[in-house]
Amino acid sequence: MNNHKLKIQSECPFCGKQYDLSSLRVISERPQGLLAHLTCSVCRGSIITFVSVSAMGTVTATGVATDLAEDEVLKFEKGKTVSADEVIEIHELLKKGRLDVGNW
Ligand SMILES: [Zn+2]
Repeated sequence: MNNHKLKIQSECPFCGKQYDLSSLRVISERPQGLLAHLTCSVCRGSIITFVSVSAMGTVTATGVATDLAEDEVLKFEKGKTVSADEVIEIHELLKKGRLDVGNW
Protein backbone atom coordinates (compact mmCIF):
# COMPACT_ATOMS: atom_id res chain seq x y z
CA MET A 1 0.00 0.00 0.00
CA ASN A 2 1.35 3.34 -0.92
CA ASN A 3 -0.56 6.26 0.55
CA HIS A 4 2.05 8.80 -0.31
CA LYS A 5 0.84 11.01 -3.06
CA LEU A 6 3.34 13.28 -4.65
CA LYS A 7 1.81 16.68 -4.23
CA ILE A 8 3.55 18.85 -6.69
CA GLN A 9 2.70 22.21 -8.10
CA SER A 10 1.02 20.63 -11.06
CA GLU A 11 -0.55 23.61 -12.75
CA CYS A 12 1.48 25.77 -15.03
CA PRO A 13 1.79 29.25 -13.48
CA PHE A 14 1.89 30.70 -17.01
CA CYS A 15 -1.08 29.13 -18.76
CA GLY A 16 -2.84 27.14 -16.01
CA LYS A 17 -2.59 23.77 -17.75
CA GLN A 18 -1.76 20.61 -15.83
CA TYR A 19 1.85 19.71 -16.08
CA ASP A 20 2.72 16.44 -17.65
CA LEU A 21 4.85 15.05 -14.83
CA SER A 22 6.65 12.81 -17.27
CA SER A 23 8.48 15.97 -18.31
CA LEU A 24 9.92 16.27 -14.81
CA ARG A 25 13.70 16.15 -14.89
CA VAL A 26 15.65 15.69 -11.72
CA ILE A 27 18.43 18.22 -11.53
CA SER A 28 19.89 17.30 -8.23
CA GLU A 29 19.22 14.65 -5.61
CA ARG A 30 20.19 15.29 -2.02
CA PRO A 31 19.32 13.74 1.34
CA GLN A 32 17.01 16.72 1.94
CA GLY A 33 15.07 16.14 -1.22
CA LEU A 34 15.36 16.65 -4.89
CA LEU A 35 15.46 19.57 -7.18
CA ALA A 36 13.65 19.12 -10.44
CA HIS A 37 12.80 21.04 -13.57
CA LEU A 38 9.43 20.90 -15.29
CA THR A 39 8.52 22.27 -18.68
CA CYS A 40 4.92 22.94 -19.68
CA SER A 41 4.04 21.01 -22.81
CA VAL A 42 1.60 23.75 -23.85
CA CYS A 43 3.43 27.06 -23.45
CA ARG A 44 6.96 25.75 -22.76
CA GLY A 45 7.01 27.73 -19.52
CA SER A 46 9.35 26.22 -16.94
CA ILE A 47 9.41 25.83 -13.20
CA ILE A 48 12.01 24.56 -10.81
CA THR A 49 10.58 22.54 -7.99
CA PHE A 50 12.05 21.30 -4.75
CA VAL A 51 10.56 18.04 -3.56
CA SER A 52 11.30 16.91 -0.03
CA VAL A 53 10.25 13.92 2.02
CA SER A 54 10.02 14.26 5.79
CA ALA A 55 10.93 11.55 8.30
CA MET A 56 7.19 10.88 8.52
CA GLY A 57 7.08 10.21 4.81
CA THR A 58 5.20 13.38 3.91
CA VAL A 59 6.07 14.66 0.50
CA THR A 60 6.06 18.38 -0.09
CA ALA A 61 6.91 20.25 -3.22
CA THR A 62 7.48 23.91 -3.82
CA GLY A 63 7.86 25.38 -7.24
CA VAL A 64 9.00 28.64 -8.72
CA ALA A 65 8.84 29.88 -12.25
CA THR A 66 12.14 30.01 -14.06
CA ASP A 67 13.22 31.30 -17.42
CA LEU A 68 15.95 28.70 -17.60
CA ALA A 69 15.44 25.87 -20.05
CA GLU A 70 15.94 22.32 -18.89
CA ASP A 71 19.26 21.87 -20.66
CA GLU A 72 20.55 25.16 -19.23
CA VAL A 73 19.71 23.99 -15.72
CA LEU A 74 21.34 20.63 -16.33
CA LYS A 75 24.41 22.28 -17.79
CA PHE A 76 24.53 24.52 -14.77
CA GLU A 77 24.24 21.61 -12.37
CA LYS A 78 26.94 19.66 -14.16
CA GLY A 79 29.38 22.49 -13.75
CA LYS A 80 28.98 22.77 -10.03
CA THR A 81 28.66 20.55 -7.01
CA VAL A 82 25.79 21.71 -4.84
CA SER A 83 26.35 21.22 -1.14
CA ALA A 84 23.69 20.20 1.35
CA ASP A 85 23.76 23.72 2.78
CA GLU A 86 23.00 25.13 -0.63
CA VAL A 87 20.06 22.79 -1.03
CA ILE A 88 18.65 24.06 2.27
CA GLU A 89 19.27 27.60 1.09
CA ILE A 90 17.41 26.85 -2.14
CA HIS A 91 14.55 25.45 -0.11
CA GLU A 92 14.43 28.65 1.94
CA LEU A 93 14.42 30.76 -1.20
CA LEU A 94 11.63 28.62 -2.63
CA LYS A 95 9.61 29.14 0.54
CA LYS A 96 10.05 32.86 0.12
CA GLY A 97 8.97 32.46 -3.48
CA ARG A 98 12.11 33.66 -5.11
CA LEU A 99 14.99 31.75 -6.54
CA ASP A 100 17.58 33.00 -8.91
CA VAL A 101 19.32 29.85 -10.04
CA GLY A 102 22.03 31.85 -11.74
CA ASN A 103 23.31 33.00 -8.35
CA TRP A 104 23.72 29.67 -6.61
ZN1 LIG B 1 1.97 26.46 -19.61
